[in-house]
Amino acid sequence: MTWSVWLVPPMITSIFFVLGVITLYWSILNWATAKAESQNRPVSIKSIRVAVGTTCAVVSVFALQLIVRDSHLSWTFTNFQLILLIFVAYFLQVRIPYWLIVLAGMAFMLFNGNINQPLSWTYTGLFVIFYVVSYVQSTHLWRWPFTRYATVALGFALPLWYLVKLRFNLSWSTYAEELINYMILVSLMYGYFKIQDKDRRIKDRLFQSANWDALTKVQNFAAYDRAIGYEFRRSTAHDIDLSMVMFDIDHFKCVNDTYGHLAGDEVLKQVAGTVASTLKAVDSKIVLYRTGGGEFNIIFPDYTVDKTREVAQQVFDAVKNLTISYNDVDINVTISVGVSALSVKDSNPLDFYKRVDANLYHSKQNGRQQITVG
Ligand code: GH3
Ligand code: MG
Repeated sequence: MTWSVWLVPPMITSIFFVLGVITLYWSILNWATAKAESQNRPVSIKSIRVAVGTTCAVVSVFALQLIVRDSHLSWTFTNFQLILLIFVAYFLQVRIPYWLIVLAGMAFMLFNGNINQPLSWTYTGLFVIFYVVSYVQSTHLWRWPFTRYATVALGFALPLWYLVKLRFNLSWSTYAEELINYMILVSLMYGYFKIQDKDRRIKDRLFQSANWDALTKVQNFAAYDRAIGYEFRRSTAHDIDLSMVMFDIDHFKCVNDTYGHLAGDEVLKQVAGTVASTLKAVDSKIVLYRTGGGEFNIIFPDYTVDKTREVAQQVFDAVKNLTISYNDVDINVTISVGVSALSVKDSNPLDFYKRVDANLYHSKQNGRQQITVG
């Protein structure tokens, strides 16, 4: 007996294919985000998600179509197309302009050699509307999400499958059977995706709370520690410039003692926000970290000490010009700053940190409200 005797029913193949595509998508997504996070690059989960998901879906659709396009059984893969449409539009929420969907539909018809058939045009038109409706409903927090999802999925599948039935002269029983299979796949995909998505959200939240400061909404010491380790290795290995700024709010204890701890919190929030937006306007590569109570570090990859000094001055001025209003009182604060660049003498990130810290200490000792570079 040979393996060719073991015919697996198309429905079973479909289930494993759909689960396989989603699993592949999650695996690549988790790998890509973990890699980006470990290298301390700013991560946009949404864009990684869109890139990975669309690639998985487009490759699957075109690969399948390539196999079946000349076959009189090509209609058997209609459910895959519909499922992948839902996957990209509803679950990945990929926002594709209408004209691009129409263009892709036309490319698909050309690819299949049926662009001259009115039925194909009707099919493509419906397909585009299906995409748009799926996308719109996924982006709204309406009630009964599963019922809506299943209704839309079925509502479009009925006419789309009817067109397929007309074109390939299928029987009503095939039509009904395919729709039942389709609804099973649609429900399965919903459940599977939701389970994976919940898992993903828990991981994201853990990553977020482990690396971000809840008060100031900038990254925390743990994130700083990882980033400086990464940048240190990168700079020493490739002989690339690296600089760092460290600053501390002057007489911050006085703010707490005079106006209360909540006022102190507001000062921290506003100082961090002002510095973060100043840095963002200069260069998105420069990142601010809250490394202590009123203490912050800024890492400057690829920056010489002279270029860093200029940005440090901008940060210094921005804080100096900031007036924080809290409970009808205006609070002004200043900062003391230390600046330094990586030196060949630094054998680890801590040596580098100590020099920047010593410069900050020098600013404090010299009367505060100043920048020490060295
Ligand atoms: P110096 O100019 O020498 O830095 O004086 P300082 O008063 O700022 O002294 P220091 O930096 O040592 O004090 C930091 C203070 O920051 C001590 C602590 O009460 C306060 N602090 C630390 N974390 C928080 C916080 O999350 N919220 C508030 N409101 N205060 C904090
Ligand atoms: Mg201080």
